[in-house]
Amino acid sequence: MSEFDETYDFIIVGSGAGSMCAALVMRKTGKTVLIIEKTALIGGTTAKSGGVMWVPNNPFMKRDGIPDSPEQALAYLDSVTGASENAPGATRERRIAYVEQSPRMIDFLLHSGIKLDRAKYWPDYYDDQPGGSKAGRTVVAQLFNINELGPWKDKLRPGFLNFAATLEETLRLKTYKQSWSGKALMLKVGLRTMFTRLLGKRMISSGAALQGRMLQAALKAGVAFSLETPVQELVESNGAITGVLAQKDGKPWRVGAKLGVLINAGGFARNQEMRDQYQPGTNVNWSNAAEGDTGEMIREMMRHGAAIGQMEEMVGFQTTTSPGIETDYVKPPGQGLTAAPHAILVDQSGVRYQNEGGSYMAYCKGMLERNKTVPAVPSWAILDSQFLRNYMLGNSMPGTKKPKAWYEQNYLRKADSLEALAAQINIPPATLQATVQRFNGFVAANNDEDFKRGARAYDNWLGDPYHKPSATLGSIAEAPFYAVPMVPGDVGTYGGVVTDVTGRVLREDGSVIPGLYATGVSTASVMGRFYPGAGASIGPAMTWGYISARHAAGVNS
Ligand SMILES: Cc1cc2nc3c(=O)[nH]c(=O)nc-3n(C[C@H](O)[C@H](O)[C@H](O)COP(=O)(O)OP(=O)(O)OC[C@H]3O[C@@H](n4cnc5c(N)ncnc54)[C@H](O)[C@@H]3O)c2cc1C
Repeated sequence: MSEFDETYDFIIVGSGAGSMCAALVMRKTGKTVLIIEKTALIGGTTAKSGGVMWVPNNPFMKRDGIPDSPEQALAYLDSVTGASENAPGATRERRIAYVEQSPRMIDFLLHSGIKLDRAKYWPDYYDDQPGGSKAGRTVVAQLFNINELGPWKDKLRPGFLNFAATLEETLRLKTYKQSWSGKALMLKVGLRTMFTRLLGKRMISSGAALQGRMLQAALKAGVAFSLETPVQELVESNGAITGVLAQKDGKPWRVGAKLGVLINAGGFARNQEMRDQYQPGTNVNWSNAAEGDTGEMIREMMRHGAAIGQMEEMVGFQTTTSPGIETDYVKPPGQGLTAAPHAILVDQSGVRYQNEGGSYMAYCKGMLERNKTVPAVPSWAILDSQFLRNYMLGNSMPGTKKPKAWYEQNYLRKADSLEALAAQINIPPATLQATVQRFNGFVAANNDEDFKRGARAYDNWLGDPYHKPSATLGSIAEAPFYAVPMVPGDVGTYGGVVTDVTGRVLREDGSVIPGLYATGVSTASVMGRFYPGAGASIGPAMTWGYISARHAAGVNS
């Protein structure tokens, strides 16, 4: 008699980014496949996310005549992620595999009926490095009518945008105060949302649209799902992983896997104990990762001998700690807050210490690094009245009255002079004044001599394209002045088990654990200790879902 209650060809633990891609590969080759998800909702952090994928040399770039090639993409990855020290997930072989396979993964999704497109302008985060692309290499799902999922629509994890706009459009909406094109876009999105609702459609966007489309294709292809089914153990037989032990309806459920088990169970962003162990100084309350990212499958793989790498890394995403942050579904975004004109970031001594543009991962790393020598968690965003009139602060619209609680709970500090502001936040007034004076000098010269803010296309993209002459440098000069605390939040962790080019999990000695594959943020990222562009987490998660399933199914071409 079998030791299993049921057996499939392939089992996927977690319904994150690569899972449904892997499942579609399996179904394409006629294999049976089961996705086991711990929570009541499908999609993981991926569904909650922006849903963009960083895919070099993708078919949409070719279509639009945007130059790229495998050589150029590899040169870029070599120059950016190649600088990662002690990063076993980011070997050159894996970088090469990523450059080769990620566009194929996109072709496969398109052939499977997933409607995608490219973001029109989203510069690589180190666009000034060799091989960097100013137009960007980011692929995104088209808006999706969630009603097409029928009874399954309530089983998709909600996204963070509740109107019919792509993420790229949403990011451009911030310019509605400054430009007619921003106002026209606002109108277009409003009308689109209204008309589609009148037609009985409920359009969703970003990560929810991506995972909604993936779920639709997976259901059509006959992929089996089991929700509210936490996997607790991997079953090993003669040194190979042959199945899993899960809890279903409160009872143990043993499921066998003939071709292998793929772990796509996310990272450990929601596990404070693991954060304290690997990423001291970071906090679950600042994380945007979905609640299922509690890291137990990483530990379970370690129990079976898996090597781990890059556990100190997270996809940092700076946030400002406005009241209610502990329970906010998506934390108030800090990306771009201090890259907008009329804003800087200072540590608790009142000194600027990094380029306020730059990738969110680099920004948060910078905060944590600074904090080792000068208290910098939280740091302070210093803003003036020009900023508040023109730009969003957290989730509050430009030029609007800020909630009373923000002042009452000492979140938003306001003062008529920089000296008075400094006194409120315990910074030496002379230091803050000197910092602002120096920064204003850089603004006048349109050259940030200290940190080169504005030298990259990406820094400017984060700023205000209508602010001249610099999209990101603007004086801090108009009273009253304001300060809000900034912390190194995140959108997930970025380290985990070490995998090879085919997605197989490796032991410390480099040998393979037979039958065990992993993808996504359960693994040590191919991007090492850097974030080369928008979608550098979901792109690889999808790609190694694709690669692992093909390997397990024995597809070679
Ligand atoms: C607001 C926001 C915006 C973002 N935007 C982007 C973006 O545009 N592009 C990008 O690349 N990244 C983005 N990120 C980061 C990105 O979403 C995550 O890094 C990525 O989605 C992780 O994918 P994953 O497949 O590894 O894990 P997840 O998508 O988190 O999926 C893991 C799943 O496994 C389940 N699970 C865990 N343990 C078990 C268990 N024991 N048994 C069964 N199931 C289990 C979880 O419940 C979860 O559903 C964003 C994140 C957020 C929050």
